[in-house]
Parts: sequence; structure tokens; C-alpha cells
Amino acid sequence: MLRIDRALTGPYWVAIDRRELTRPFCRSCRRSHFSPQVVCPWCQSADWSYEPSSGRGSVYSYTTIHRPPHPGFIAPYVVADIEMEEGWRLFSWITNCEPVNVSIGMNVKVLFAPGAEGELLPVFEPAEFAS
Ligand code: ZN
Repeated sequence: MLRIDRALTGPYWVAIDRRELTRPFCRSCRRSHFSPQVVCPWCQSADWSYEPSSGRGSVYSYTTIHRPPHPGFIAPYVVADIEMEEGWRLFSWITNCEPVNVSIGMNVKVLFAPGAEGELLPVFEPAEFAS
């Protein structure tokens, strides 16, 4: 997610800078969604706010990048669709794990790592917990 629309995504990035992962949560249908939208993609209500996430999830799907789009990326690396335990999903990276050891359903937890311009980004590493 780019940091362009500060009005919509500002609270998300403020939390990231505090090393806290948040998610849009709709008070109308009580579902989480991602990325942030003006209205809830499930019920079209504008009554949503950022709520804390546990930062725990599992790998829904993933791919290993062998030919990076920019020299700043060190290949191979894994981009994954993470299913969070609150029922929402986001794309991120898997770190602290060899790409060949990543698997669908693998438990992961969030950590915060500097991006190319030094800004903190949520990334995920393998974790052990009951899912
Ligand atoms: Zn909703």
C-alpha cells in the first residue's frame, strides 16, 4: 500500500510507526477488510475505523520472486497473501525464513522492518501458535 492517500490511510501508517498493526473494521457488519476503502467493501457502510490486529496469521498463498523489479530487492524473496486471525488479508513479505521453507497454512506473525526509503513496513516471519 502506498502512503499517498493520507486522509484514508494515515491512521494505519501512524500505527505502523508505533509498531502496531491495525485493520479497517466495519461497525455495521462487524467484518474487517483491507485495503482501507471509503466504504466497507462487504456492506458499503462508511461506519468503520481502524482497530488493533493481533499481528498473527497464516500464509494464504505466496510466490517466490527470483528476478526482482529493482536492484534494492535481494532475491529470492517471498511475497505472500497473509490471512490474519481476525479474518482479513494483506500482501506482505515473509522474512527470517528460506523461501523453500514457506508453505501455505504456515503460521506467521508481524514484525516491522524498514523499507527502501527507511519507512517501517509490516512484514511477517514464521511463528508457532495454535491457529
Ligand atoms: Zn461492513
